[in-house]
Amino acid sequence: MGGGRCLVLLWVVLFCFFSPGVIDGSPGDADPVYRGCVEECEKTGCVGEKCLHPCKASLDGNTVDVSWHLKEPLYIRWKQWDCLSHCRYQCMLTREESRKKLGQEPDKYHGKWPFKRIFDIQEPASVAFSAMNLAVQFHGWVSFIILVNYKLPFRPNKNTYYEYTGLWHAYALFALNSWFWSAVFHMRDVDITEKIDYSSAVAFLGYSLFLAVIRAFSVRVEAARVMVAAPVFAFVTTHILYLNFFFFDYGWNMKVCVAMGLIQMVLWAVWAGVSRHPSRWKVWAVVFGGGAAMLLEVYDFPPYWGVFDAHALWHLSTIPLTYLWWSFARDDTEFRTRALMKKKD
Ligand SMILES: [Zn+2]
Repeated sequence: MGGGRCLVLLWVVLFCFFSPGVIDGSPGDADPVYRGCVEECEKTGCVGEKCLHPCKASLDGNTVDVSWHLKEPLYIRWKQWDCLSHCRYQCMLTREESRKKLGQEPDKYHGKWPFKRIFDIQEPASVAFSAMNLAVQFHGWVSFIILVNYKLPFRPNKNTYYEYTGLWHAYALFALNSWFWSAVFHMRDVDITEKIDYSSAVAFLGYSLFLAVIRAFSVRVEAARVMVAAPVFAFVTTHILYLNFFFFDYGWNMKVCVAMGLIQMVLWAVWAGVSRHPSRWKVWAVVFGGGAAMLLEVYDFPPYWGVFDAHALWHLSTIPLTYLWWSFARDDTEFRTRALMKKKD
């Protein structure tokens, strides 16, 4: 694969990301019928025939929304199943039902597609796929641990021959943390879960950028690694603090994430292009697969059967890529170990 074609693809992805249409307005919740429904529901607790428990609890007790919270167990409070949330959900379903009968396409509500909830889970498909990503990351990490600790020989000083062992361990921790919070966020989208999810994703992306630089340039000297780590980690930490405590800017965060993602994709692509690594095709596959999968984020389509939207399928697509990526990590470990042992002989 020529470097030119690779660059063209990257530019296409770049262009798509920064082009308008990515930032979602929500026409659904601007709809007067929907607004009227929510307003009515908050007063009566009912949408059509359907009357909602949290609203009833607050109306029966002649109290405002806040007080029923206090009577409910903690797990209900965590889910923030208040009257307004219930009303918004039921009104959205009713509105979408009638729009569907008129042959209209689904609308977004409060920044999200109209998902059908399963067991109170907001986006069941994204939760399931995040959990599967978590499982595949864990499997990859465990197989890596088994390889370095039980299958390959150690140096006389008890260290592994492979120079990047510790870096992959840390990578696994960032990945597991990020997928765990992704599952939680898609279960229930509230301010705190959103902030932790975004922060974890940024941290994971930042760390994998650091790993890409270290591996692609074969940085083995500790001091040189620190010189790479310092600016990357300083930037990532500053960005996370900015998001959480100053301004949660979706547009700016998207640009930061795309930039960090593209840099590491280019690094890996170029590295795979020039190196004689026996498993370089796996790097190509992950880079191009990852690039193609990003298109799902760009062409953000509404959920099929109320469940599978573009974002959920994007999470699905990263499952095989993750599997392949850990397979590359294991290959790299064996390849480097063999090379270093040969050198020693
Ligand atoms: Zn997600």
